Amino acid sequence: MNRKKKWQQKRKIANIKFSLIMILLIIIVLTPLSYFTLTGLNKTQQVKKEITSVSKQKIKKTKESISKSQAVKSTINSNNIDTSKWIPSQEEAWVPTLMYHHITHEITDNNCLTPEDFEFQLDTLKKDGYTSVSPEEAYLIFTENKKPAKKVICLTFDDGFDDFYKNAYPLLKKYNMKATSFVVTNFLNKINYLTDPQILEMKKSGLISFQSHTASHQSMESLNVKDQLEQLQTSKKHLDNSLKQETLAICYPAGKFDEHTANLANQAGYKLGFTTQSGFAAKSDGLLTLSRVRINSNMTGEEVLNVLKTAENH
Ligand SMILES: [Zn+2]
Repeated sequence: MNRKKKWQQKRKIANIKFSLIMILLIIIVLTPLSYFTLTGLNKTQQVKKEITSVSKQKIKKTKESISKSQAVKSTINSNNIDTSKWIPSQEEAWVPTLMYHHITHEITDNNCLTPEDFEFQLDTLKKDGYTSVSPEEAYLIFTENKKPAKKVICLTFDDGFDDFYKNAYPLLKKYNMKATSFVVTNFLNKINYLTDPQILEMKKSGLISFQSHTASHQSMESLNVKDQLEQLQTSKKHLDNSLKQETLAICYPAGKFDEHTANLANQAGYKLGFTTQSGFAAKSDGLLTLSRVRINSNMTGEEVLNVLKTAENH
């Protein structure tokens, strides 16, 4: 019995020892494992946090760059014209806008000017320091009240006659002067009028802008509201589509308009409207009822300059 008891005791002790060793072993094995697991988790969380903060920074930077580019855009505006270096005008900025029709040797009425007389006018304007502006630039001159040069001028040609391509365009290129042709969209490609290829070629030069003179050259004041709007919209859509541009100016046929016309032009999407009222175009005229200076067939360069002198200080 004693032997048996002793053996049982020894076995018990051996069992306890074995259990203790096992527990110790488990502790030894598990402690570093749990440490590594925990630090591993921490590290994953840290990496996650870093990624989040990096992406947050990226978002912030993107937002900053977007707002910066928007700020730049707002100074450059939709036509990509940078006005930041333009000269602010002390008084209301005016744009003397000259109104031409035919440039031709066949002088049939007061609206015709010979190419030689036209060249003399361009030469005189250039020598006197005039910079010609596009309708887009004119719009910014009116709305921002500053100018790209001290003396600015807008040269406009009504009706879209083909003598503009034959006689005026070569001279405008020679003197590097910008000009605007107001075309009647239903007359294009007809005899004596500009053709699509001529228009595309001139637009490509960057010197010539094509704007609306309505669809069929009917006097606005002779039309009801619906028909006026149709004339304004149809011609704009034609030019917008064919020239891939946002047509911004309308010139009313024979300069005629009624009390609805300016609102209708605005509704059709025009920003500038030109009349035949005599004077220098200014915002206070109303941007959709701007005045112009008619150039007659017998006007010399000097006479044109004399007319412009009063605008020089504006
Ligand atoms: Zn006309």
